[in-house]
Amino acid sequence: MENSAVTVAVRVRPFNAREKAEKALQVIYMNGQETAVQHPGNKQRYNFMYDFSFCSVDDCDPTFVSQQTVYKTLAKPLLLRAFEGFNTCLFAYGQTGSGKSYTMMGFGEEEGVIPRFCQELFSRLASMENEEVKCHVEMSLLEVYNEKIHDLLVTREQTNQRRMPLRVREHPVNGPYVADLSANIVSSYNDVQGWLVLGNKQRATAATGMNDKSSRSHSVLTLVMTQTQTEFVEGEEHDHSITSRINLVDLAGSERCNSAKTKQSMTQKTVFIPYRESVLTWLLKESIGGNSKTAMIATISPAGSNVEETLSTLRYAQQARTIINVAKVNEDTSA
Ligand code: ADP
Ligand code: MG
Repeated sequence: MENSAVTVAVRVRPFNAREKAEKALQVIYMNGQETAVQHPGNKQRYNFMYDFSFCSVDDCDPTFVSQQTVYKTLAKPLLLRAFEGFNTCLFAYGQTGSGKSYTMMGFGEEEGVIPRFCQELFSRLASMENEEVKCHVEMSLLEVYNEKIHDLLVTREQTNQRRMPLRVREHPVNGPYVADLSANIVSSYNDVQGWLVLGNKQRATAATGMNDKSSRSHSVLTLVMTQTQTEFVEGEEHDHSITSRINLVDLAGSERCNSAKTKQSMTQKTVFIPYRESVLTWLLKESIGGNSKTAMIATISPAGSNVEETLSTLRYAQQARTIINVAKVNEDTSA
């Protein structure tokens, strides 16, 4: 058993076209682990400390943090823990348009955490697989929208009907899981890419007529990696396996959870994901305060016009640092 707090990073993105056009004021300053907000209205300065403060406003700035640096600093340590047999989770939290999907998935050549993580996972597996160690990886991708879970890797043709929502069940040892969710064996990064293309298409198809859908849905990519070692003890064959569940989560826009009700639960210091939907909280129960090594990246806008949403994101991110996870290596030994 290993106790550890959730690792929390904040990332501020560049000004977007609209903010540039309205000559928006930069109100976010970062220095080392610190993020400071200079409020344009009440003129107050707010200071916050995180494990990492990533400034991605201006790529000419010597302190500019690239996609590669975000991956290396925040996600790669989780990959290393996954190889040791720990469950891991990285989730992105922030206002719509603040850079969650850019950070998690990326854009064009600016690949995000998910492609980099999967590429390195498979290159490491390729270099370690031999007669004694066998590796197996399964991938699932789901979205939670309006309290309903949908499998993004199953097509409508396959279900032969309109999509039925899936249910969360509780496994006595492994905790919550989604019943009937497809688990697809992936043996290369190429396989992962193929599924991501399908997943994105499914999400887009479902969104027809609702262009704000991605801001209102959560997506959860899960990889289950099992490494099995066969040993011979006095002529008998023994299998020893370690398993890691890896959750990579792109949450719905946080502006949705700034209701009076969620604000109240913030002050109660409960361990939670601040969305009123219970399905997601249940699904990520082990990742938030349970058996997992977990990191969060909170994404924010640099502009004064978003200062209130930014402050609430920063406050939530600070709160998240108090969540303690208790992780253990998931081992299985059988004759
Ligand atoms: P979200 O998923 O939080 O709604 P997006 O990731 O879609 O936000 O980002 C909104 C826009 O800002 C996109 O056009 C995206 O490419 C751009 N963007 C976000 N973060 C960055 C960044 N760090 N560097 C460059 N562009 C970014
Ligand atoms: Mg997004």
